[in-house]
Amino acid sequence: MILGALEAGGTKMVCAVGNEKGEILDRMSIPTETPEVTMPVMAEYFRKWEVRALGIGCFGPIDLNRNSRTYGYITTTPKLAWKNYDICGYFREQLKVPVGFDTDVNGSMLGEATWGCARGLDSAIYITVGTGVGVGVLADGKLLHGMLHPEGGHILIPRREDDHYGGKCPYHGACLEGLAAGPAIEARWGARGVELADRPEVWELEAHYLAYAITNYILMLSPEKIIVGGGVMHQEQLLPLVRSKVTEMLGGYLVTEKLQDMDSYIVLPSLDDNQGILGALKLGMDALA
Ligand code: ZN
Repeated sequence: MILGALEAGGTKMVCAVGNEKGEILDRMSIPTETPEVTMPVMAEYFRKWEVRALGIGCFGPIDLNRNSRTYGYITTTPKLAWKNYDICGYFREQLKVPVGFDTDVNGSMLGEATWGCARGLDSAIYITVGTGVGVGVLADGKLLHGMLHPEGGHILIPRREDDHYGGKCPYHGACLEGLAAGPAIEARWGARGVELADRPEVWELEAHYLAYAITNYILMLSPEKIIVGGGVMHQEQLLPLVRSKVTEMLGGYLVTEKLQDMDSYIVLPSLDDNQGILGALKLGMDALA
């Protein structure tokens, strides 16, 4: 059975087809332009493969409330051409198949929970740290939505006393994303992360903010595993720093077997950067079921 998967991002759209074993059979990617330009190309791709269902992991914010008039819409995105756009409705209309829909980070979480390092777990979180910060949450074996969906990238954390950078988030200034996403690193230090690899102070501060957020997620959600992906995490020195700072910030308050083994508790993604597209595939499978 052929299923469609779409990882809808602000800069590019990754389309793939695969099967219920999580095997990707084909993929293509196109830049995210306007819906008028981009949507028909994707619909044509999925139509050609005669997909039985489609799953979408989407940039947001999006409307996931099935009782809402705008369920399946991209809502208040700063990408204006896509604001209040009915992305699910378009595909349902064009392809006449069930469409599964969730955030991109919940999609990655689902990919890891289905075929990756969170398989068999009831709870976990997936954090991406790149041009933005996003958090997907698995709780009691299901993706967490609540009234909207978690926006853990925008939690408010104290700016460290020695950090004089005001923050980059257009909504909150110095929220987690405003302090720790790629663009914040570049604005604070005057160079892109890749050019700052040999500046330990850059990664010590970055690890501080990520550990701060992760400590709060652990205390709030009690996840069994924490997966941290995204471009910023390609800095190899970062993850070990994050692990040791989380241990320090927890202050010995929580004692579990998993926390004793930080190297397998806070980890990088396990699916060769396919976690997002595989999660979208699973969203399609679930929509069909
Ligand atoms: Zn923010």
